[in-house]
Amino acid sequence: NLTDRLADTFKNLRGKGKLSPADIDGTVREIRRALLEADVALEVVKDFTGRVRDRALGDEVSKSLNPAQQVVQIVNDELVAILGGEARRIQFAKTGPTVIMLAGLQGAGKTTLAGKLAKWLKSEGHTPMLVAADLQRPNAVTQLQVVGEQAGVAVYAPEPGNGKGDPVRVAKDAIKEANRKQYDVVIVDTAGRLGIDTEMMKQAANIRKAVDPDEVLFVIDAMIGQDAVTTARAFQDGVDFTGVVLSKLDGDTRGGAALSVASVTGRPILFASTGESLDDFEPFYPDRMASRILDLGDILTLIEQAQKNFDEEESLKIAEKFATDTFTLEDFLVQMQQLKNMGSIKNMLGMLPGAKGMREQLENFDESEITRTEAIIQSMTLQERRVPKLLNGSRRVRIARGSGTTVTEVNGLVNRFEQAAKMMKTVARGGTPQIPGMGPI
Ligand code: GDP
Ligand code: MG
Repeated sequence: NLTDRLADTFKNLRGKGKLSPADIDGTVREIRRALLEADVALEVVKDFTGRVRDRALGDEVSKSLNPAQQVVQIVNDELVAILGGEARRIQFAKTGPTVIMLAGLQGAGKTTLAGKLAKWLKSEGHTPMLVAADLQRPNAVTQLQVVGEQAGVAVYAPEPGNGKGDPVRVAKDAIKEANRKQYDVVIVDTAGRLGIDTEMMKQAANIRKAVDPDEVLFVIDAMIGQDAVTTARAFQDGVDFTGVVLSKLDGDTRGGAALSVASVTGRPILFASTGESLDDFEPFYPDRMASRILDLGDILTLIEQAQKNFDEEESLKIAEKFATDTFTLEDFLVQMQQLKNMGSIKNMLGMLPGAKGMREQLENFDESEITRTEAIIQSMTLQERRVPKLLNGSRRVRIARGSGTTVTEVNGLVNRFEQAAKMMKTVARGGTPQIPGMGPI
């Protein structure tokens, strides 16, 4: 499978101090073959290996202490990028109920997903309602009712015996009902066909037009292989969607479809469905999927070490800057970004078998703090990052506004930075730091 193929490829690189262009070409060829075997679409593979090759031939690898590890890191980075980079969550409506419409082929897992999503939303404090707008299949309404009962949520369905009704009408009525009864999320299940056909697509598009959903989730069976791209494109043209849900990720598929769909449609993958029970469901994390594709402790170790080497080099540079008093907010930003990388490595570690307890702990790792700090520094001009003394009151107000934070937060960051720089300068020059409020130690 994909994971094994990639692992073999990287093993061959290990132990090589320096990589020749031929080594890199050989590796890229292997990655290409591995991805194609995993049913990743050809156009996606070409694009992907092209980027990996360019980066692998560049400075970051030739200057690295361990080029092979650096190549693994690049492959990982590019996988995360193709899978959408940052995880995206559901966008809720500002007023009135949030409408989520599901679309996809028959058997993709829409109805099951409706239940999973409802159960999960409920556990997050929402009051979801399911809507049976699949009036095509005889049992579709009953199936949704069963799922709704399992999830413990309300189901809006047309009157029994009225199964030949109009799904657009049902969906519209359901939203009125949700407004009346104050459900805050409405999940509209729709009909699918075995193949793509224009009538089904038209029906889905009509439902979309009628209910103006906040999210349209395209549900796709991860085992669908090479058809993933054609199917995804057809739905993008016919209905269009705001996000993707990968279902049946519990099989031994390693995500070939995931790579293709995310890359070809440019739409983020929001959730992964991993089994038949309603609890087999999770928000989708691009970095975890990348590490699932790259799996194996072996590779994780390589990545970790690449990270460590990089950090050591960076640390030396930073120490030098402290000593000479040239450490700036720009350097601070670089350090922040490194911390974030460490965060995604933690996620990877969490994927290892037997590390479940650890994974839970690691999930509490607060990356939002780093993100805020980053936003603040990025809202500064280069001048301000280099000469923080320039940061007077009005500049701080502007930065707070630009970064969506408060002046107090900007002040806090500048203070922390100044204290750290002062303390580190003393340490770097061999002195004893003065910790504020504690006197000399
Ligand atoms: P729909 O036609 O798109 O509504 O698909 P359904 O929700 O009815 O699912 C079709 C079949 O796939 C059912 O037998 C489900 O139990 C099964 N199924 C749905 N999601 C998953 C999943 O994540 N993993 C597995 N193994 N089976 C699933
Ligand atoms: Mg269904």
